[in-house]
Amino acid sequence: MPKGRVVIDEERCKGCALCTSACPSNLMALDQARLNAHGYHPATLVDPGGQCTGCGLCAVICPEACLSVFRTRAARPKPVLAGVN
Ligand code: SF4
Ligand code: SF4
Repeated sequence: MPKGRVVIDEERCKGCALCTSACPSNLMALDQARLNAHGYHPATLVDPGGQCTGCGLCAVICPEACLSVFRTRAARPKPVLAGVN
């Protein structure tokens, strides 16, 4: 399973919460403890278990294009070569 990482441009976030409903694993939330310069609670990734797959749905739905998603590929198993010493 690939792993994802979400980078959030918090100052562009308008706190609309669309990303929170788009994530199939409910990993996006609005940070109620902080405000950005425009007075909005910015989106944050809440993923202590490393469940983000990097599917990108949160970034696709964001109207402000303030989410960048990076995906790490799962390591491929090394091929086993039969008959080679
Ligand atoms: S990349 Fe996918 S799994 Fe990760 S936070 Fe965004 S919507 Fe959720
Ligand atoms: S969809 Fe974009 S603008 Fe809306 S809360 Fe999420 S990151 Fe912020």
